[in-house]
Amino acid sequence: MTVETDFTHDPSATSWVDSANGHPHFPVQNLPLGVFSPPGGGDPRGGMAIGDMILDLGDIAGLLELEAANAARLAGGATLNDLLARGSDSLRALRQGVFKLLTEEGNKRAIGPALHKAADCDLYLPVTVGDYTDFYTGIHHAENIGSLFRPDNPLLPNYKYVPIGYHGRSSSIRLSGVDVKRPSGQTKAPDADAPSFGPSKRLDYELEMGIWVGKGNALGHPIPIGEAEEHIAGISILNDWSARDIQAWEYQPLGPFLAKNFHSTISPWIVTMDALAPFRVAQPARPEGDPAPLEYLYDEHDQATGALGVTMDVFISTAKMREDGAAPHRLSTGPMTAMYWTAAQLVTHHAVGGCNLRPGDLLGTGTLTSGKEGGEGSLIELTRGGKQPIELPNGETRTFLEDGDEVIMTAYAEKEGFARIGLGECRAVIVG
Ligand code: MN
Repeated sequence: MTVETDFTHDPSATSWVDSANGHPHFPVQNLPLGVFSPPGGGDPRGGMAIGDMILDLGDIAGLLELEAANAARLAGGATLNDLLARGSDSLRALRQGVFKLLTEEGNKRAIGPALHKAADCDLYLPVTVGDYTDFYTGIHHAENIGSLFRPDNPLLPNYKYVPIGYHGRSSSIRLSGVDVKRPSGQTKAPDADAPSFGPSKRLDYELEMGIWVGKGNALGHPIPIGEAEEHIAGISILNDWSARDIQAWEYQPLGPFLAKNFHSTISPWIVTMDALAPFRVAQPARPEGDPAPLEYLYDEHDQATGALGVTMDVFISTAKMREDGAAPHRLSTGPMTAMYWTAAQLVTHHAVGGCNLRPGDLLGTGTLTSGKEGGEGSLIELTRGGKQPIELPNGETRTFLEDGDEVIMTAYAEKEGFARIGLGECRAVIVG
């Protein structure tokens, strides 16, 4: 079973925006949504990435028809919440309309003024994030972390029944490129009698994907699993920075708090579910002996197509590496199919008690670790709990992040018979 594709997925389609053709992230088959301001000032407004350019959506609304025109007008403001609220049909109409404009040569003159060089634009958070929830769907990550604390029993008994998550902090979500200030807090070494206060010494990243809620639901009205997809607008790369020493001391009994609320970094572009249609894959079969999802979380179509064939990479660039002109060093690579639950299951579970999701809410997948060597989604896993430092190509070593380190995450989807698309980058430097 596959998800339907249309003319916007034609791999042979090219754009008159030359830089889009063969672009590793933003060919005309992608058309991700973001918010930018053009060079020389101007208010933040909605746009689409196309090659090395950004298309001002509000500016071209008059060239579109019907629902596509409505959607482009809604994208004219400083956040995309209203556009996402309109739902997936509207996003599809906008995508199809813009695709035609950017592939038919005759539109070049009319649209030219609405295109801006991305390198000269400022980018902003694409939506106002009302609520942010972080899940824990990376089962290999959960096993790795669990085994640091409970070697004999890494996964708690609820893990394979409940999509585990916690309510995160939306006020400290920042766009890629904003420096991350090392948090201070309470920590307590295992052999110390009492906690002390100071800068975190075990600052880590978490490789995650962010799932954007599109259309919301009313309070008291759960989202059936068969309808969950209509509530998902798209995805971006998410780095859930984590202070492991603060976390270890504070996390019981209510879970992460200050260890994770100081800053989270998100990539600028929302890659829509339509752009991802060719890359949908079956949710990997659960290992023999695992329970089936409870009925409210089970849908045949979701199981057949609800996972995403997206590859994620993490790189580090230390201050010294940048000084020396050395290329960033890849720390890990792995697939998004490391999720034990699908995005649709996360949406349905979140709302099942009646909780209302709102357009622009952000759901983090949790750290995605592949389960293979080289697929660790955090330093605490790469360094076996901070016990085995890793060595970088220039001889520097790391157990956790140091001031000046930049963490760069990127992701892409590719498949025979379709154009490769990417999610861009999610990067930030640690500062003291
Ligand atoms: Mn996390």
